[in-house]
Amino acid sequence: MDKNQTKFILDEKDLATAWYNIQADLPEPLPPLLHPGTKEPTQLPPPLFCDEINKQEFSKERWIDIPEEVQSVYRLWRPTTLFRAHKLEKALDTPAKIYYKFEDSSPAGSHKPNTAVPQAYYNNKAGIKRITTETGAGQWGSAMAMACQYFGIELKVYMVRVSYQQKPYRRNLMEVWGAKCVPSPSPDTQIGQKMLAEDPNHPGSLGIAISEACEDAFAHDDTRYALGSVLNHVILHQTVIGLETKKLMEKIGDYPDIVIACVGGGSNAGGMMMPFVQDKIKGKKKDLRLICVEPTGSPSITKGLLAFDYGDVAGMAPIAFMYTLGHDFVPAPIHAGGLRYHGMSPLISHLVKLGYLEATAVPQLATFEAGIKFARTEGYISAPETDHAIKVTIDEALKCREEGKSKTIVLAHSGHGHFDMGAYDAYLSGKLEDFEYPEEKIKEAQKKLPQVNLK
Ligand SMILES: *Cc1c(COP(=O)(O)O)cnc(C)c1O
Repeated sequence: MDKNQTKFILDEKDLATAWYNIQADLPEPLPPLLHPGTKEPTQLPPPLFCDEINKQEFSKERWIDIPEEVQSVYRLWRPTTLFRAHKLEKALDTPAKIYYKFEDSSPAGSHKPNTAVPQAYYNNKAGIKRITTETGAGQWGSAMAMACQYFGIELKVYMVRVSYQQKPYRRNLMEVWGAKCVPSPSPDTQIGQKMLAEDPNHPGSLGIAISEACEDAFAHDDTRYALGSVLNHVILHQTVIGLETKKLMEKIGDYPDIVIACVGGGSNAGGMMMPFVQDKIKGKKKDLRLICVEPTGSPSITKGLLAFDYGDVAGMAPIAFMYTLGHDFVPAPIHAGGLRYHGMSPLISHLVKLGYLEATAVPQLATFEAGIKFARTEGYISAPETDHAIKVTIDEALKCREEGKSKTIVLAHSGHGHFDMGAYDAYLSGKLEDFEYPEEKIKEAQKKLPQVNLK
């Protein structure tokens, strides 16, 4: 393939047949997950997740086969296209080569179906009839709704209330795919009732929505819970992104100097970066930079604590060692709903700690400015989450211009913004503001961490 092409496309027969599991190659193993009650090392609580998913969460096998039934769904939109951003490069007058891996082309419009499909598949195989989950911006809920359709599973989605109001069309999408979606906090669970009693207009948070979905799954024998990010099995499924990117880079005869992705729970970044982290661990490309981008309004890595904390508000999900702003942190209502989680994937946290990944935070207004620059050059309208990665991509490309250096930059283009036009409208009419994390809150968060004594 010629570097100067615009689109780089793999053949359907080049679809990955196995996911890459970074746990096989970690120089130091991950800290354990802890049971929220006993605070002892635990598996994923079995009434929440089916066996196969539990097994994958802790597996140290380097390659895990992608079942044919999952591949047959992947083939509807995978392998996805890698683009060379010629028009953006020209507008920036940069010697950098910018590529973007385009996850927008899945039916739900983001990378999330890459894990939604195997999660629905494994639950169906285990005889599960119903799944509960939470969603922030609605990307995950709609991906899961689509995936459950393929395998005849009923789905109930608890959607963070502020997003439920900001993004009504995402709810419609879930309903078209046959799911039930309620705003969270909802009157359907005890934790939801408690939150609504405190504040009838509670904006909700991912931490609360996760508690509601877990409570619902615990209460019904035929029901399991699905999580769209954060956990190891989710990142495992997302590695199809990085595997395809590496294969394409090989065919082009190029290799990235910098890989950039936004991080909410860390799944698109993890999926893109893990196959490259493998190269770094093996010493193949020591100076490769892998940059995770978060919002200044919810900066778990750049401002948070690296500690054991609960994954949800009510303390029903396992305790994980991760970067966290505190499990009861309610982030500012930024439009990148997918980036409003208080914690971070334990895998991403671990790799930041070991120095393989770096992180930076960017304010909301600058991300929309970057997204609009991208739309006015490349044409594609990106999700507000993706705009965070675009902002840093543009910054790095401009640095190349200043330094007169040509670097190869790969951007994980996690999704489209077609259901986020309200957010673009708010930006264009000057109604958006920037949010900084209130730093005094970190002391409160520290006090509320679970007390853990590991031998
Ligand atoms: C959910 C979402 C994100 C953030 O989630 P990660 O698990 O960190 O990838 C980013 N981009 C898009 C388009 C999303 O839907």
